Parts: sequence; structure tokens; C-alpha cells
Amino acid sequence: MIPDYDYMANKFKATLVTWEDIDRWCGKISRDVADTFKVDTIIGIARGGVVPARILSDRLWVKDMLSVKTEHWGLTATKDGEAVLKTKIDTDLRGRKVLVVDDITDTGESMSVAYNYIKSLHPDELKSATMLHINRSKYVPDYYAELITEKNWAWFIFPWNVYEDLNNLIRKSISDYADIDKVRESLKQDYDLDTSNLDIETILEDLVHFGKMKRQNNRYVTVQ
Ligand code: ADP
Repeated sequence: MIPDYDYMANKFKATLVTWEDIDRWCGKISRDVADTFKVDTIIGIARGGVVPARILSDRLWVKDMLSVKTEHWGLTATKDGEAVLKTKIDTDLRGRKVLVVDDITDTGESMSVAYNYIKSLHPDELKSATMLHINRSKYVPDYYAELITEKNWAWFIFPWNVYEDLNNLIRKSISDYADIDKVRESLKQDYDLDTSNLDIETILEDLVHFGKMKRQNNRYVTVQ
């Protein structure tokens, strides 16, 4: 989440994450983990940690994979909100070495809530991993692929969150109907976001299909 920047405000930096980035980050984590920790069970924190957890389950040859869900409440009301556990697991973790996985530790709220919950299920050993770790996070994962300084903070648009993020960014950036060039230009201006590798037209058409946007001729606007 964005404690120092306001996600509802119009301007902050956003960066597209590629599948190559994901592959590189998960590759690094898997090698670091394999050298130091014999994992029995992987737990992905939904939703952001589920795909990285699945990739690590492949890379680490661990077939036992579960998921817990955390959510923030009061996100728009307060700056740093409070993460709460939404979905628990019904599995005895006694005797198991567990790796809990998320995409990013930003405030560290989600990871600490999930970590403490899983710890209460008495695993033999528990370690944590995230692809990205922002150095202001109050929780430091045991493994991470890349350290991001607060100065380089960005909203990372993961490949599994493109539609949700773009819809939010465009809504904040453009209030009236705009053509594709204008959409690209505004995203660049407001978020320093380079969309040249994105098929924006298909994405906008899909957003129209799912009722998130409206189109008039070749101009689009987000449904508020
Ligand atoms: P964390 O506990 O890692 O700080 P939060 O609890 O703030 O994360 O937010 C929960 C989820 O929100 C993260 O797992 C991630 O999916 C998403 N998120 C948080 N910060 C960012 C960011 N800078 N870029 C992209 N997604 C983020």
C-alpha cells in the first residue's frame, strides 16, 4: 500500500513488472532458499503472493502449497490502514518447515499478520520470502530478491494485476473521454509509466467488455 503517497491522489510513480522480472526474482529466491532451508510447505499470501508461491513451489520441488488471505481495512480512511487476516487454513503445521510468500513487503503489514498467524499453528520452522522488499518496511523477510530504497518507491504493476491497476490509474488520471494516445500520454505524465510494451487497445476494450470503462467512437472513459 501507499502510506507516504496517496494512492487516491493523482501523481506517483508506477512501473510495469514483466514476466522476465518475476522469473529472475523467483529464480534468485529459490536458489537462496534451496541453499539454506529445506521447505515442506509453501503458503502464498492472497492475492499478490499466490503466483510467486506457485512458481516457488515449482522451483523448489515442493508440492504442498496453501494460501491465506490478508486485506487492508480503513485503506482510504487512514494512511497506513491495518492488515487483517481474511482466510485461515485448516491444516496442522506441526513438524513442517514452512515458507510464507508474498509479492512485496512495502509497509510489511500483510506479511507480519500472515507470519504471526502461521506461527500460531506451530510449524517446526517458519521463514518468509518476497520478491521485492522496500527498506522502510517494518517487517524484513528472510529472503527477498531485490531491495528497493524508499527513494525508488513505485507502485509495481505485476502481470497479474494489470487490469485492476490500469483501471485505477486511468480513473485518477483522466476524467473525460480520451483516445489511446491521450491515455498513454497521461499515464506517462502522471505516473512516469511507459506503456509502449502494452497492448493498451485490447486492455481498454476488455475493460469496456467488463463494464469498467465506456467507449464513444475511439475514446474511452472509466466508469466511476
Ligand atoms: P506490505 O505488507 O507488503 O506492505 P501491504 O500490506 O502494504 O503490503 O499491501 C498488501 C499488498 O498490496 C501487497 O502484497 C501487494 O500485493 C500490494 N502492494 C503493496 N505495496 C505495493 C507496491 N508498492 N506496488 C505494488 N503492489 C503493492
